[in-house]
Amino acid sequence: MQFKDIIGQQSVKNKLIKAFREKRVPHTQLFIGQEGSGTLALAVAYAQFLNCNHKQGGDSCGTCSSCIKYQKLAHPDLHFIFPTAKNEKIKKDPQANLFMSDWQSYFLSVDGYVSQSGWYQHLNLGGNKQGSIYIRDANDIVKSLSFKPYESDYKVIIIYLAEKLNITAANKLLKSLEEPPENSLIFLVAEKYELILPTIRSRTQIVKVPLINSVDLKGALRNKFPGNFNEENLDNIVNLANGNWNRALEALGSVEVREFNFLKFREWMRICYKPDDYLSFSKLIQELSRMGREKQKSFLNYGLYVVHNTLLINEKLDSKVVADKTEINYFKNFSPFINDVNRVKFYRILNESIYHLERNVNPTVLFTRLSFQIVNFLKEGKTRLVSKK
Ligand SMILES: [Zn+2]
Repeated sequence: MQFKDIIGQQSVKNKLIKAFREKRVPHTQLFIGQEGSGTLALAVAYAQFLNCNHKQGGDSCGTCSSCIKYQKLAHPDLHFIFPTAKNEKIKKDPQANLFMSDWQSYFLSVDGYVSQSGWYQHLNLGGNKQGSIYIRDANDIVKSLSFKPYESDYKVIIIYLAEKLNITAANKLLKSLEEPPENSLIFLVAEKYELILPTIRSRTQIVKVPLINSVDLKGALRNKFPGNFNEENLDNIVNLANGNWNRALEALGSVEVREFNFLKFREWMRICYKPDDYLSFSKLIQELSRMGREKQKSFLNYGLYVVHNTLLINEKLDSKVVADKTEINYFKNFSPFINDVNRVKFYRILNESIYHLERNVNPTVLFTRLSFQIVNFLKEGKTRLVSKK
């Protein structure tokens, strides 16, 4: 990772670079920051910078032999320790070095913006299982510190989630943290200062990493996803994210999914309202059938959400509708077609369909049947409209 890959955090970067220029890089540093602020990414970028053979303009070059190995997390003088637990693959005595390739692929897949839950998910820990850093990991650190760096200026040990060091592991490390061998650096990364053992805290220099400010967050979203959303969407995402890049990505994902569901649902209802265009009708059913179970469930849940909102509008409870402008307009136009003749039926068939999808029913059969039912329900709803006039 280069500094330029990290979102915002210019003042932290400046401090780190200044310490290098003034030749006072502390041996043991504790990077503290909340999830999604890029704390681990900064520690890795700093390590890459310190070992780069052609530093330029306050960043590593990204192209020298050291940088290339660093960017794959495959440098022989870079060591990682992180929390682990037993899983399907490692059934006993878990420790970081048994999970190194998982760690590399996870870190690279999220561009260094790791999260505790994301890591545990990657390991398939399941449920609420948590990882820990064990005495075996501490022994590995002590052992690797006993060798000189192979090929670079500094050997760097990065401990991700220092609050997960259990007491015996921490005790084992105290001497190394206090006085690491020459040319060795230890970077601890943590989210919660108060959970770190005081004996560890007192032996480290603190690097505080704040939340990402909204200007930087917005800039990063625009750069990475050009043309992906309008200003209103962007502001919404930045507000939801609250300085956390991971949360911004989650919110972005849900905006995309929602937009897809909205457009497809609207198309589906239009086609079911005028089913005489049989080609479009069967084409859409095929498309819905092929899109994968999770997407289908999300789509049908969105259908329930539409029905719910049209009912609110029918009951003159418009202020309770939470949706963007395009959706609200659609709900208003669609609401007359969902009325006391068919609303219970709509709820029932959508819920039943979700239930059947979870039990692996054939999706083509399901969407065909469902679409014909909706054709009838809309017809009934329309009859009620006409009779009311
Ligand atoms: Zn370089």
